[in-house]
Amino acid sequence: MQEVIAKFIELQKLEDEIIAAERILEEGPRQLAESQEKLDGVRAAHDDIASRLAEARAGLKVLEEELAKLKDLKEGNRLRATKANDERSYKAVLSEQDTIKKLTGENEEGTLTAMEEIDRLQEALPPAAKLLKESEAAHAKLSRTVRAQVTEAEAAVSSRRGVIDGMLATIDPAAAEHFVNSAKAHNGKAMAPVTESTCLACRMRIPPQLYNELQGHTKIMLCPSCARIMHFVPPPPKEEPSAKSAAAKRPKKAAPKPAGRTAEGWPAAVPCHARPQRRLPPAPPSPANALRPWRESLSLRPWHLSGRLRSRPSRPQTPPPP
Ligand SMILES: [Zn+2]
Repeated sequence: MQEVIAKFIELQKLEDEIIAAERILEEGPRQLAESQEKLDGVRAAHDDIASRLAEARAGLKVLEEELAKLKDLKEGNRLRATKANDERSYKAVLSEQDTIKKLTGENEEGTLTAMEEIDRLQEALPPAAKLLKESEAAHAKLSRTVRAQVTEAEAAVSSRRGVIDGMLATIDPAAAEHFVNSAKAHNGKAMAPVTESTCLACRMRIPPQLYNELQGHTKIMLCPSCARIMHFVPPPPKEEPSAKSAAAKRPKKAAPKPAGRTAEGWPAAVPCHARPQRRLPPAPPSPANALRPWRESLSLRPWHLSGRLRSRPSRPQTPPPP
């Protein structure tokens, strides 16, 4: 059965690759559609500016033509005014003159507005055109990438499916059916690794008896919660304590403790056989005090050492550090 489970694990790896490829097949077109929508927006904004500019230019042309006509009318009116020989016709000429003046004023105002609009649109058009060009290039690039990814993913799906079918054919049909059904029911996630009594697919605890049975690899077992095929994964080894922390945790060797320290920080008297092998702390800076602790310690030494050292009182056994 262990062999079948091992094959299932291999099959699951292939299924996982299919899942990843299918995600690309879903994501790619979605990304492309989003990019297309963005590009459409940019293009619409560009086209809007361009069409408004064309309209404004056409409007300006009409206004200019009307202004030219009004100029002609004004000239005709001026001639008629010189020829008017009675009050009635003169009044008519004056009334016409007023109308021409009013229309000319309106048209000039319209012309100014149209020219301002044209200036504004002419300024806005190049950046919009640049953005459109960039967006088109980005979309084309994304399109190429997505197309390549989709082709690759399609090939991956089809090849993995072939391998899966081939492998399933080598497994006992009843066992293979378990895998196929579990994969179908769980979107390709047929297997559930189980470690330390927990199904890692659904995070549920496995009853102890079932967990023990699972480790025996005697049969195909389904997770009681998510119904995937369980496979035992040995729990990760407990973290080795690092050398430093181990040293910190280890109880100190039964080296005899120094009996304490003098006020100057020097070790107090300890028989030399009981002294730990370690360096003494640096000597205090004052040379006058340097020898004092040593003298103090000498007075506390065992009698057999004290006698020897007393014969040379100015030279302690170990010279004090500088
Ligand atoms: Zn489960």
